[in-house]
Amino acid sequence: MALYKDISLKEFSYWRVGGKADFLFIVDTILELKEALVYLEKLGLPSIVIGNTTNLLFSDAGVRGGLIKLGPKFSSCQFERNVLTVGGGAYLPYVVRQCVNRGLSGIEHLVGVPASLGGAVYMNAGSQRKSFSDNLISVDSLDENGSLITRSRDECLFSYRNSIFQSNTELVIGAKIRLNFQSKSIIRHECLNILKSRRKKFPRKKPSCGSVFISDPAMYDTFGPPGKVIEDVGLKGYKIGGASISTQHANFIVNDGNAKAIDILNLILLSLDRVQAKTGFRLKSEAKYVSENCALIDADQAALTLLA
Ligand SMILES: Cc1cc2nc3c(=O)[nH]c(=O)nc-3n(C[C@H](O)[C@H](O)[C@H](O)COP(=O)(O)OP(=O)(O)OC[C@H]3O[C@@H](n4cnc5c(N)ncnc54)[C@H](O)[C@@H]3O)c2cc1C
Repeated sequence: MALYKDISLKEFSYWRVGGKADFLFIVDTILELKEALVYLEKLGLPSIVIGNTTNLLFSDAGVRGGLIKLGPKFSSCQFERNVLTVGGGAYLPYVVRQCVNRGLSGIEHLVGVPASLGGAVYMNAGSQRKSFSDNLISVDSLDENGSLITRSRDECLFSYRNSIFQSNTELVIGAKIRLNFQSKSIIRHECLNILKSRRKKFPRKKPSCGSVFISDPAMYDTFGPPGKVIEDVGLKGYKIGGASISTQHANFIVNDGNAKAIDILNLILLSLDRVQAKTGFRLKSEAKYVSENCALIDADQAALTLLA
């Protein structure tokens, strides 16, 4: 097990925002996971599981507790014909490449999502109007006692950017994925097209968490997706402190170099209010906020609570 103390979340997290976390544990076995939890329990500190932090906004005050991340031993990919068994720590773009190299199609839409497998299951990540759950057969997780639970796809209660793992405290350690045989060149071509289109649409050079807000089908039908609506209310490029609403895609909030969580929360609150005033719809965030006491809160709710 690797244990780091006083980790700078500004340096470590994907959005490059946040104070210091007391502890970061990288665990490679179930025993190590249990040891990490016992260590924290003795200190009376809470913990939170993280993947690649691509959907997380950490508090400016940091985290009084432990972040737990799956290590390399939880990142293996094993293929049996068209079924992939993959560990919860695996890096999604790597997993997609492994599938492409074997002529296996189905999860190309995830090629540009810089997540871990566990985080992608938890969020039911997706793009191109597809969701990860479309191809999942089953998910393995550990409960608080370290007992292994295997759930079929239906038992994971997947919906748009949601899963049962958002309402329990289990740690996703792996999944089985069903793929389809396809010509390697066709799959490769599809991946390149997806990456090209993402490069054009989304900001890449500045840290972000991807889309901040979830698309609401009712709002979409009348006014369009969140990015268009935020642009229509005049917020594209709007800056608060070190953060701004991307000039490239208004559903992205980028860190211009020295953003604080509070700058991002203020931009979220401004977007919520302006969009509601113009459309009557209340946006909901996809991004999640991690508070100083390790609580995980939807970023829109955090903005409302902290800035009230
Ligand atoms: C540039 C960029 C582009 C993006 N594009 C997309 C996109 O196209 N589609 C999309 O859906 N998302 C996208 N995202 C958002 C993000 O990648 C997804 O939400 C992803 O699923 C988060 O995975 P993660 O490993 O980074 O998890 P984290 O951000 O680390 O964690 C997210 C949540 O998952 C939980 N979690 C993480 N790992 C585990 C585990 N092993 N077991 C249980 N819970 C766990 C955490 O507790 C947390 O609540 C993008 C983000 C960025 C930065």
